[in-house]
Amino acid sequence: MSSPADSANLMEAVVSLAKRRGFIYPSSEIYGGLNGFFDYGPLGSELKKNIRDCWWNDLVRRRDDVVGLESSIIMHPKVWEASGHVAGFTDPLVDCKVSKQRYRADQLFWAAVVVDGKTVGHVSALESEKTGEELQAAAETFKRKKAITGTLAPVTPKDFTEATEAEIPLIPSPATGEPGSLTPPRAFNMMFETNVGALKDASSVAYLRPETAQGMFVDFKNVVDTTRVKLPFGIAQIGKSFRNEITPRNYIFRSREFEQMEMEYFIHEDADWAKCHEEWIVWCETWLKSIGLPASHLSRYAHPKEKLAFYSKGTVDIMFKYPFGVQELWGIAARGNYDLGQHATASGKPQELFDEATKKKFVPHVIEPAVGVDRILLAVLCAGYAEEDVKDEKGNVEKRTVLRFSPRIAPVKVAVLPLLKNKEQLTGRAQALYKKLQRRYAVQYDDGGAIGKRYRRQDEAGTPWCVTIDFDTIEKPGDTFTLRERDTMAQRRITEAELFALLDAQVY
Ligand code: ATP
Repeated sequence: MSSPADSANLMEAVVSLAKRRGFIYPSSEIYGGLNGFFDYGPLGSELKKNIRDCWWNDLVRRRDDVVGLESSIIMHPKVWEASGHVAGFTDPLVDCKVSKQRYRADQLFWAAVVVDGKTVGHVSALESEKTGEELQAAAETFKRKKAITGTLAPVTPKDFTEATEAEIPLIPSPATGEPGSLTPPRAFNMMFETNVGALKDASSVAYLRPETAQGMFVDFKNVVDTTRVKLPFGIAQIGKSFRNEITPRNYIFRSREFEQMEMEYFIHEDADWAKCHEEWIVWCETWLKSIGLPASHLSRYAHPKEKLAFYSKGTVDIMFKYPFGVQELWGIAARGNYDLGQHATASGKPQELFDEATKKKFVPHVIEPAVGVDRILLAVLCAGYAEEDVKDEKGNVEKRTVLRFSPRIAPVKVAVLPLLKNKEQLTGRAQALYKKLQRRYAVQYDDGGAIGKRYRRQDEAGTPWCVTIDFDTIEKPGDTFTLRERDTMAQRRITEAELFALLDAQVY
């Protein structure tokens, strides 16, 4: 097996395949696209739906302690005041006054160029897998261009938030390469504002939600009062969130409109939160593996205590090895009772439960696993992508591109292929099977071109199985088809009942 040799090639190959095969398109492409927004095409929307459905089925339907919710995207603006988003949902923004480019200060790196112990200049680079190497190379170039002699010290990369007032004017803008044009960082609120109703003034300002989580807090009492939930229990929601990211990048990894799958798991104030936190981290890791992500690409990052919000007891991110680096996929936070407490104070409506044992009221604590659907989708595309040299029917070596999706999330589960398209006995049997499969699964019918070509088309779409209706099907007893497996390319004969049993076991 071969794969694109390096990470940049892999990312390029994935983006190109995703466009070519209708997984992902830039939004509003005929108008030049809109930075940070994407459309999911026919295969992409199926893949996304399957990711959502697996999560919902495993978490909400198959557990007795989690219920679902679908709250509105635009909520009362006081929600976002109480949650702290109006005041604090900001990223540090840096402007380049010359190029008019904007940067996130914590993603803009710089270093002093030190020769023989003396600072002779500064270099900068945007955050990437190789920020350190890039800064070192830039420092060497700087020294050469300025014809400075002496020994260059290894650079010490810092991000722009660490620059002092005196250092800021000395750091070159990544856009122009010249110092003097970067502004000091200022807080930029990432919530999209809109107005509700006909009047456009301060009283009608509302926000597109930057996370789905607040819906679960604001409806906490509604759920408790209208269902039979008992602690510990979770409320889960899937839905769109919007963040006016300063620098959307890495394709669908960081976009301005994205989809989240979040749960608030409420526990007693005296419960062992650390144990519960760990159990949910393990649940999330196990779930990611169940949809086909390799364990080798997953790791954990525990946020250092001193970087946590004052109310937070601990946050662990499940990281994924993307081609552009190891990045956050899923955050699992122990948030204490901060959110319910904030809403109780702001709304004047207590958010308490009654403890029968102690006869006391208390505000439950919460564990919050929060993940982005788009980030999972990008992870399965990158992990599943492979290019292989294979032999065609005539023994010639050709390249096949394959997406090794788990059958759970594959956009198409089975392709039904009549060996010939003008032989009614074959197409009739193929159509009958296709129609029967279609009632339960996403299937494709393909009668165009040589069979090998059709297999390749399905490999690129990540379809785990193809069934070919051939002459043995109609001429030999048993009504069997050729089943061709995507990963091994092995072929065997299978009956309709066996095919349904296989799908039933693997697609859940
Ligand atoms: P980051 O540090 O990458 O900006 P975050 O810590 O702000 O992310 P959370 O607020 O914890 O993210 O959101 C929960 C999850 O939502 C993230 O783990 C990620 O999967 C997803 N997510 C957050 N921001 C984006 C975005 N701009 N585009 C796509 N997915 C996102």
